[in-house]
Amino acid sequence: MLFIKKMAKKLTRSKIVKKLDAVFSQYIRLKDSVDGMATCFTCGKQDHWKKLQNGHFQSRKHYTTRWDEMNCQVQCAGCNVFKYGEQYIFGVNLDQKYGPGTSNELFIKSRQSIKFADFELEDMIIKYKKLVDSF
Ligand SMILES: [Zn+2]
Repeated sequence: MLFIKKMAKKLTRSKIVKKLDAVFSQYIRLKDSVDGMATCFTCGKQDHWKKLQNGHFQSRKHYTTRWDEMNCQVQCAGCNVFKYGEQYIFGVNLDQKYGPGTSNELFIKSRQSIKFADFELEDMIIKYKKLVDSF
C-alpha cells in the first residue's frame, strides 16, 4: 500500500530537470530551423535539427543560464562534444547576434545562484512543450 502511494507521487527533481532539458533542447533546435534544417552556431554546418544538439555557452552545470535562450544555441556534435563547445567562437557570435557585452553578461548571470522550485520548472516544461508543438 505504501509502495503504491509512493509510485503515485509526482516526478522527482532529476526527472523534472531531464524532461525540461529535453523539451528545451527541441525548442532551441526547432525555433531557428527552416524546412527542418538548422545551422551550427559556431561552425555553420547545416543538418536536420534532429541530428544537431543544443549547445550551451556557459555549462549546463550553471542553472541560472541552463535554460536561457541566448546561452543555448544549435550546435553540431563536432563543436559541442569534440571541440568542447567552441566557447570562444560561441561568445564572439553571441555578441554579434545579440549585441556587444552579451557573452560577458551571460558569464556573470551563470555565476549567480538560483534555486528553481519544482513548479517553476514544470511551468517551463508546459511553456516549451506548447512552443515545440506550435512548429
Ligand atoms: Zn559546428
